[in-house]
Amino acid sequence: MSDSCCGTTAIEIEQFTTAQQTAPGVTGLPVVVIGAGPVGLAAAARLAERGIDFLLLEAGDRVAASIAQWGHVRVFSPWKYNIDAAARRLLEADGWSEPDPEWLPTGAELIDDYLAPLAELFGDRMRLGATVSAISRLGYDRVRTAGREQAPFLIRLADGTELQARTVIDASGTYTSPNVLGASGLPAHGEGEVFVDHALPDVLGADRDRYEGKRVLVVGAGHSAATTLLALAELDDTPITWAIRAGNATRTYGGGDADALPARGALGTRLRAHVESGRIQLLTGFFTHRVNATDQGVEVISRDPSGHEQTVTVDRIVSATGYRPDHSIASELRLDLDPVLGSTRALAPLIDPNQHSCGTVPAHGVDELAHPEPGYYAVGVKSYGRAPTFLMATGYEQVRSVVAAIAGDWEAAREVRFDLPETGVCSSNLAEAQEQRVGLATGISGGLLSTPLPLATVSASAQGGCCG
Ligand SMILES: Cc1cc2nc3c(=O)[nH]c(=O)nc-3n(C[C@H](O)[C@H](O)[C@H](O)COP(=O)(O)OP(=O)(O)OC[C@H]3O[C@@H](n4cnc5c(N)ncnc54)[C@H](O)[C@@H]3O)c2cc1C
Repeated sequence: MSDSCCGTTAIEIEQFTTAQQTAPGVTGLPVVVIGAGPVGLAAAARLAERGIDFLLLEAGDRVAASIAQWGHVRVFSPWKYNIDAAARRLLEADGWSEPDPEWLPTGAELIDDYLAPLAELFGDRMRLGATVSAISRLGYDRVRTAGREQAPFLIRLADGTELQARTVIDASGTYTSPNVLGASGLPAHGEGEVFVDHALPDVLGADRDRYEGKRVLVVGAGHSAATTLLALAELDDTPITWAIRAGNATRTYGGGDADALPARGALGTRLRAHVESGRIQLLTGFFTHRVNATDQGVEVISRDPSGHEQTVTVDRIVSATGYRPDHSIASELRLDLDPVLGSTRALAPLIDPNQHSCGTVPAHGVDELAHPEPGYYAVGVKSYGRAPTFLMATGYEQVRSVVAAIAGDWEAAREVRFDLPETGVCSSNLAEAQEQRVGLATGISGGLLSTPLPLATVSASAQGGCCG
């Protein structure tokens, strides 16, 4: 029986998981890890350390292909929180030198100075260009039960190749499934027929020509929208419109001078100044309903719940509306998803964005991540579903716990904790670093910018009441 919270779920999970780990049908098969982002690579490092055979499948033609899309953006957590402990040990044994632990890397630096060297250690146990299109059980659809736990996982790739696995760690992220522009969660009418840029284009770098001199609309209220807006404001002759659903931008502006994180406050203060000066036109109460390509540009029509319409015509649209998990690859597996977030049900109350910022999520591991399908774990940012509060450090603890469970080390699997200082993972003295590039982005979407981010060292067993 589990000594962690959410007892009933944990008991069932333990039965499922141990049955699968000892099943004769899976003996000799590797653990398959989907996605070579920071969390998939950390899972591989943990598996390597424990001497467990694995295969790491990455859809992109390079490591961390999703981070590469926002490589020009500087993250808000310094190096010391972005490196997994097992990965650090493997890299140091290979002669690697850790970057300055206090520095805030860009996405590109994360890849070049950490993730790519780590991936190299795994040799042919990592495959690039390997897109997983579906996961099932060999000989079993989702309905068939008898003997299910003994059956290997069947993994189908986009090129038709099929592989078998004893366990699947799905770290495929959410970056490839952005939220839609449509305000009700459905695509706006015509959304599929016009070109929409997704969050964090490199406005001052590689993508400059696409924006300079164009009328640009940015939709969304989070750090990504703010970062893009500030970069656009540096371009000459580039009219900028910013559309948000809320009635005002107070939450995006954050706490200004009083903000718990000075750089975050500075970001909001600069944005507010641009809005107040008219450099950025703010449209509030904007519920994107329809987009039409016209001779004059793309017409974007908002229709609010009362039926009131607003229209803006632009040349380019940047959608910074966040991300959602794509569970379709696992639709033949038995998943127990929270109806709101799309995380596991056990994890949902711990990460609920109505209650938590990234800094107040408690450590969690295999018990909270297991599904009724024994041996399948979604980890990393995908595990959070639509909750926008994920941190790499959280994902590293998740995979440490999951891999310990795969190894049968349940004591280690259940001793989940963060080793983070009480002052927080999010650096609070970033003004200088921020100015070196266009700003900071977090992947955190609207409404969380004004939330303080205290992070205490907690162990789940010491927490209590997590299911409350
Ligand atoms: C702009 C931005 C800034 C952020 N800043 C921070 C920060 O400062 N600190 C912090 O802790 N967190 C930050 N985050 C949040 C989070 O840590 C990152 O999103 C992180 O990259 C998540 O890691 P991951 O490994 O779970 O997923 P990802 O990094 O998204 O990696 C998933 C990988 O899976 C691959 N993949 C996808 N589908 C498939 C498939 N079907 N088959 C095979 N491979 C597939 C992708 O190509 C990708 O390489 C930020 C996020 C964003 C977007």
